Amino acid sequence: MSEKIKKYVLPDSKVPTQWYNIQADMVNKPLPFLHPATKQPLKAEDLFPIFCEECSKQELNQTDAWIDIPEPVRERYKNWRCTPLVRAYGLEKALDTPAHIYFKNESVSPVGSHKLNSAMAQVYYCKEQGITNITTETGAGQWGTALSYACSQFGIDAAVYMVKISYEQKPYRRSMMHVFGAQVTPSPSMSTRAGKDILTADPSNNGSLGTAISEAIELATQTKNCRYTLGSVLNHVSLHQTVIGLEAEKQMEMTGEYPDKVIACFGGGSNFGGIAFPFMRHNILEGKNTEFIAAEPSSCPKLTRGKFEYDFGDETGYTPLLPMYTLGHNFQPASIHAGGLRYHGAGVILSQLLKDGYLKGVDIDQTESFKAGVLFAKSEGIIPAPESCHAIAATIHEALKCKAEGKQQVLLFNLSGHGLIDLASYDRYLSNDLQDYVPSNAELEKYLAQVEPLQP
Ligand SMILES: *Cc1c(COP(=O)(O)O)cnc(C)c1O
Repeated sequence: MSEKIKKYVLPDSKVPTQWYNIQADMVNKPLPFLHPATKQPLKAEDLFPIFCEECSKQELNQTDAWIDIPEPVRERYKNWRCTPLVRAYGLEKALDTPAHIYFKNESVSPVGSHKLNSAMAQVYYCKEQGITNITTETGAGQWGTALSYACSQFGIDAAVYMVKISYEQKPYRRSMMHVFGAQVTPSPSMSTRAGKDILTADPSNNGSLGTAISEAIELATQTKNCRYTLGSVLNHVSLHQTVIGLEAEKQMEMTGEYPDKVIACFGGGSNFGGIAFPFMRHNILEGKNTEFIAAEPSSCPKLTRGKFEYDFGDETGYTPLLPMYTLGHNFQPASIHAGGLRYHGAGVILSQLLKDGYLKGVDIDQTESFKAGVLFAKSEGIIPAPESCHAIAATIHEALKCKAEGKQQVLLFNLSGHGLIDLASYDRYLSNDLQDYVPSNAELEKYLAQVEPLQP
């Protein structure tokens, strides 16, 4: 018997030199973004006051399938990329499944998640443009941490609005941001009009990503040489994350197998798009039949129960109107521990691809996600981020289906991050202190009714 190979890594020279822009290959292109006031299609220039110019252009680029990774970004990528592709023999054994399970381990990045792939790129482009200050929001703190580290690399001041409940409950990511030199403000705050309005109406408001985004955009547009950055949802963010899938594609070649199913958790869609798009291009261009499964929390079910509508990306309505699957920009998700998955909308590219049947969403309950995370930790030795636990739970479903049907499929999932700073959530799971939240139809309808229907 030949020796089992556990992990596959590409040499530095094979770390991708370009990102893959799936917009260029999509059969039905995403609908245009609309200006929030005039409702007219946006041009890249309309985004320049908020985002740096290069990211604004990438956002709307529907023609170039390949975009060069700037050399200074690629140099930094080499500090943790290529990330390992790992065969999960331990998990396969625990499940007694004939499926071959592989995972791409993004938890090895210096900040512990995939977020750094886009943070390095966005901060680099800001620096090139002469920007001196960057604002952003963060929920659980993963994006804020990645952004803070990238800013320290390129010598830019970072101001992070952190959702208040996380600011209080997740002190260690706040500490990491401080170590990297960022200024961190709990949101809602009195420092912006958006924050003031919300606090005046509801002084005990715990904050939400939508509110923190409004605050960060407001500060960016009112500060000289300052731009806003976002860690998910937007097209350019998924673009930067395709480095994950491009590596994985070459690593799968090394295994001699090709995935039947590609699985990732879904917040705004960037780690999902990152691992999926390079494989999905073969479905689009060559008629391959790989299945793509996006695992979302049942408490925030925009893929399975949301509506495809033009909606705002933030609570106050500062962002363009985006054509996406949404639960409504005022949707208040339950306080589940996978903070990175509590966003009301799905990215524009992924929404169009979902509409066209290229992927499917599955809903995972919070307790099921942690149960999967614990099994993975025991069998593979890595404690996954609560977000990543959703991908693992969906993978386990598929592996058990293979067992029931006696099928030997190849499953590939993205381990978007580790959970070493989320151990308090594991403690609560282990002491049976976590609940599942599934919003009622009436609750979903209430928020969706607040989305103004619009014909493009
Ligand atoms: C932010 C985050 C997510 C969700 O964001 P996507 O843009 O949907 O990928 C998932 N996993 C981890 C570890 C995160 O930090």
